[in-house]
Amino acid sequence: MADASYESTYQTAAEDTGVRPTRPLRSADVPRWDHEADVVIVGLGGAGAAAAIEACQAGASVLILERASEGGGSTAQSGGIIYFGGGTPVQTACGFEDDPAEMLKYLLMASGPNPDAEKCRLYVEQSLEHFRWFEAQGIEFKRSYYPKKTTEPVTDDCLLYSGNENVWPFDVSAKAAPRGHKPKVEGSAGRVIMETLIGRVKELGADIQENARAQTLVVDEQGTVVGVHYKELGEPRYARAKRGVILCAGGFIMNRELVARHVPKLLNVNIQIGNPGDDGAGILMGLGVGAGTLCMGEGFVSVPFYPPSKLVSGIIVNAQGQRFINEDAYHGRTGEYVLQQSGGVAYLILDNECFGRPIAGMQIKAAEESIEELERGLELPEGSLTHTVSYYNRFAERGEDPLFHKAKNYLKPLVNGPYAALDLSVGKAIIPGFTMGGLDTLPTGEVLTADKHVVRGLYAAGRTTAGLPRSAAGYSSGMSIGGATFFGRLAGRTAATR
Ligand SMILES: Cc1cc2nc3c(=O)[nH]c(=O)nc-3n(C[C@H](O)[C@H](O)[C@H](O)COP(=O)(O)OP(=O)(O)OC[C@H]3O[C@@H](n4cnc5c(N)ncnc54)[C@H](O)[C@@H]3O)c2cc1C
Repeated sequence: MADASYESTYQTAAEDTGVRPTRPLRSADVPRWDHEADVVIVGLGGAGAAAAIEACQAGASVLILERASEGGGSTAQSGGIIYFGGGTPVQTACGFEDDPAEMLKYLLMASGPNPDAEKCRLYVEQSLEHFRWFEAQGIEFKRSYYPKKTTEPVTDDCLLYSGNENVWPFDVSAKAAPRGHKPKVEGSAGRVIMETLIGRVKELGADIQENARAQTLVVDEQGTVVGVHYKELGEPRYARAKRGVILCAGGFIMNRELVARHVPKLLNVNIQIGNPGDDGAGILMGLGVGAGTLCMGEGFVSVPFYPPSKLVSGIIVNAQGQRFINEDAYHGRTGEYVLQQSGGVAYLILDNECFGRPIAGMQIKAAEESIEELERGLELPEGSLTHTVSYYNRFAERGEDPLFHKAKNYLKPLVNGPYAALDLSVGKAIIPGFTMGGLDTLPTGEVLTADKHVVRGLYAAGRTTAGLPRSAAGYSSGMSIGGATFFGRLAGRTAATR
């Protein structure tokens, strides 16, 4: 009986990643050790590379297991925006003051109802040091500001408002400053970040095993994590970790069953932001040795209806013809609110002056000469959209938005027909998303059990953990790479010096 319930609680390493914790291997059952290192890191993305650099610099020997044929992970696919603040050289050169206390207020608010105050505080306190660390690795940041509302600058400009810093209600709680920093590359910068960091990892002498997919953790008789069982091109291998194992294996957006179980709202997503390795393997391995998780029900969803930024001058309404958000909010916050509307229905209403085609390619649902006709074309309740637009216009003329406080520069009465509605609805619009929950960790990367004891020998960072960003409604671009690399570094240092 005992064995049967054990089997039903765990999955074995041989099973493909499912939803149950992965049963660890006992060290007594390890047939041989193929590798040995002070620190074994699972996953060579942003968190893994940062952990490896610090562990090597602390004098540890490092083995990295990467399931793909080359490292990079989602970090390499990303836009490469990194969240820094508190007066970085770029902010200063571009004329922005940023008080660390204001950055902390913002981070705490942006983290939603369950912030990790200690992680936020450390991140702010060491933000300038972390920026300098990136430069020291060889990543350049142009001293320039990108002023337009966008998801990611197409130029090589650096600084941008990458979240909700300058929009309501965040701007009334914390003094706004742009904190998104993109390395000096035209367009997406993730590839350059990872090429540079992996270059440093190699220079520092870490052993990188590619095509090496971690299957499960190895524990000794005391339950301390002492190694990893992995498969190299299908062949079983065993790596011994003398000081610790760091799980940096990404999140679980690619594991549909795990998503359905923990964060079903992400089933509405039609673009999974991630790579095939985001199957939750790292989280399930951690759970297998007693780790606790946090924020597993949280996930980022985006409705990237801008750029072009003039679209922000339109209004977004639901199936009741009513506004529900300030349209200048970050696209992730808008995505979260769209999901909450009945039927997931949302339309961006534009007049001829602010009409444009979103880069993300949302479709026109209706186009008419008047708002009354548009209301009928969208099958909205009679009078609903006409009322919403006339109320909005009345105040927009005076530069006010008493309902949602959209910034003045986007407030223009919608009076120049013809009018169009772009479909931002679930199932119609491009809605990308990723998971935000993961293993519960201390800022040092030490993994905690559900009752907050440290799991000996186990560390984690990046999307495998519930890290810095914890709320879809408050997320800012840059928090993922910023948090993954910052706490990856701390995990590397802690494991190396254990
Ligand atoms: C298109 C896109 C744009 C984005 N833009 C931004 C942005 O501008 N700014 C921002 O902050 N964030 C952005 N993100 C999110 C961000 O890139 C990631 O959340 C973050 O980089 C995750 O870092 P990580 O190290 O935790 O995971 P990853 O970088 O994904 O690394 C995890 C690694 O672990 C490996 N792995 C997984 N399982 C195993 C296993 N069992 N054994 C061995 N190896 C394994 C994977 O192959 C992968 O290489 C973007 C993501 C995407 C996809």
